[in-house]
Order: sequence, then structure tokens, then C-alpha cells
Amino acid sequence: MIEVPVPLGDRSYRVLVGPGARHRLLEVLPVGARRAAVVTQADIGWEVDPGVEHRIFCMPSGEDAKHLGTVEDLCRDFAHWGLTRGDVVVAVGGGVVTDTAGFAAAIYHRGVAVVHVPTTLLGQVDAAIGGKTGVNLPEGKNLVGAFWQPAAVLCDTETIGTLPPREYRSGLGEMAKYAFLGVDGLADLPLDEAVAACVRCKADVVASDEREGDRRAVLNYGHTLGHALETAGAYDLRHGEAVAIGLVYAAELAQRLGRIDGARVAEHRRVVARYDLPTSIPPGADHDQLVALFARDKKAVDGITFVLDGPRGVEPVRVSDQRALRAALEAVS
Ligand code: NAD
Repeated sequence: MIEVPVPLGDRSYRVLVGPGARHRLLEVLPVGARRAAVVTQADIGWEVDPGVEHRIFCMPSGEDAKHLGTVEDLCRDFAHWGLTRGDVVVAVGGGVVTDTAGFAAAIYHRGVAVVHVPTTLLGQVDAAIGGKTGVNLPEGKNLVGAFWQPAAVLCDTETIGTLPPREYRSGLGEMAKYAFLGVDGLADLPLDEAVAACVRCKADVVASDEREGDRRAVLNYGHTLGHALETAGAYDLRHGEAVAIGLVYAAELAQRLGRIDGARVAEHRRVVARYDLPTSIPPGADHDQLVALFARDKKAVDGITFVLDGPRGVEPVRVSDQRALRAALEAVS
């Protein structure tokens, strides 16, 4: 079992990565927790044994289930059962479960401990690590939430074995991102080591910037176009697929702004293609709409901020060159 620490002072925790990690649950439960509310979804099919009195609470599946109504339902169910502030929530599922159950844990009794057991590749390398929890509003994705660090994260790589192929590929999109944030040789590592390498990278970034200043923003590499494609809503793309296209776009844009050369762009294309992920935006995509959506991205604090590769590595950059934005879109069409 690989153990990755997330050093955050009195909010520090461990991430255990490897086959069978879910069986280590009892060991990582907070001291004194007498009951565990296990939040999961019917189609996940992985069970955990917290080793203390527990009850399973099933939430609906899909991004549409990630809303305040589900959080209210969970909190009311916890209250009916008698979950106390000293107990624990265990989230077993993909990013939809860990984001929603994590947020419910953050606000129930003004905060009860949560342990994440992510069962998707995307959840293991990204969503369950770092303490961002939250749900969607009709007005936009992840608009309501809280920073709530888990007490521990168990990335059981056995659970990845039952993922539908498309969900697996979606996780590879986030994994490809880490290849440009300094994780070398990712594609050649066995799954548990690859997951652990990504977790280590995210843990380093989060430890240096828990609440999203500039450093944590690098985790959004590839996400500006990715989010725009998702928000446009007309395309059949999973999150990681949209991020994969976004990585190639970010490289094309960085080249047009004189930040990287053609060889580095080719490397982006190679990494993304090696994971069998898309490198082009869907045919017929509306460039005007995508550029308009860039400006609405949550990270656009001051105009259009892109996370771009460059001589100092990947960093947030303010971009106002409309021609470069559009030329880079042509290059990924
Ligand atoms: P998901 O949670 O919807 O899971 C995908 C599907 O796979 C679901 O139908 C789920 O029930 C099923 N599933 C999960 N594990 C399974 C398994 N082991 N076997 C078979 N089926 C399984 O999607 P996701 O891609 O894991 O997460 C996406 C969500 O994560 C988005 O809402 C996104 O906003 C969020 N996210 C959060 C962060 C963060 O830092 N908090 C980071 C990235 C993404």
C-alpha cells in the first residue's frame, strides 16, 4: 500500500493508495467516532465495513444529483438516524458522491468528519483530494460549497476495475494533466503508482495553497476550454475528455503567445493521444460561444485568466489577445 501524506497542520491527513485500500477504513476513522454514515450510489457496487455501527445512505447518480436538495436529504437522514458531531461520514463513490457527501459533512452540525473512498479514477487522482466540496446551482457548476478536508482518503485501485470504460477514460484526462505539472513517466507506471504520483502532486500543490491562490490554480490546467465545452452543453463529452482537449488548446495558445515552442505542443498532443483521449473540439463547435464562455469561467477573476505552460512551467496568465484565442481554437478544430 502506498501512503501519501497531505500536510496541512492540524488538518493533515493520509491518502492510502492500492488494491484493497478500502479494507483499512477502521484504522483511519477519527478517534471516538461511534457511528459511520456511509453515503454511496446504487450503481457503484463497492461496499465498505467501517467496523463501527453504520448505515448506508444512497443518493441518486449523475451530475444532476449534485444539488442542494440532495444535501438537505442527506442531512435530514443523518439527523433521523442520530448521527452526532463526533461521528463520521464515509463517502464511497465518484466525484459526485465525494463532493456532495463532503459538503453535507462540512455543514451538518457545523462540521462532522468525512473519510473519502473514491471509486472512480477521476475521484482518486483529483476530486477526493484537497478538501473542495460542493454542489451545483441551476446557475452554474460548483457554485455552493466549502473547503472541508477529509480525515483520510482510501484510493482502492481494485474499484477502478468495475468502472465503465468511458468513466475510466475520463479519469485519464485528469491524469494527463499531471504529466504537465511535473509528474514524469506517468503513462508507464502501474495503476497504483500512477494514482499515487498524481495524488502526491495534488497534495504538494494543496499543501502550499489550501484555498486556491495562484499555486492551486495550476490544477485547473486544461480546464478553461474544458469547462466552456461542458457549459456549452451541446457536446457529448465527459469531464476528463473535455479537459484533454483543453490541454491541447492551452498548449496551442501558449505557443501563439510565444511561451512554448512547437515541440512542447507536440508533446501535449502525444500525451493526450497516448491515453486515447480526444485532441480536437467537436465538429461545428461555435467559436464565438466558447470565447464568450472563457470570460465567464469561475477562475476569470480579472478578465480571461488561462493556466498556461511557459518557461517557468505551468502558471495562471491573463490573456487579452483575441486573435491568439481564436487561432488556437482553429488549431484544435
Ligand atoms: P461520477 O461521480 O458521476 O461517477 C461516474 C459514474 O460511475 C457514476 O454513474 C457512478 O455511479 C459510477 N461509478 C463510480 N464508481 C464506480 C465503480 N467503481 N464501478 C462502477 N461504476 C462506478 O463522476 P466522476 O467523474 O467520478 O466525478 C465527477 C464530479 O467530480 C463532477 O461533479 C466534478 O465537478 C467533481 N470534481 C470535483 C473535484 C474537487 O476537487 N472537489 C475535482 C474534479 C472533479
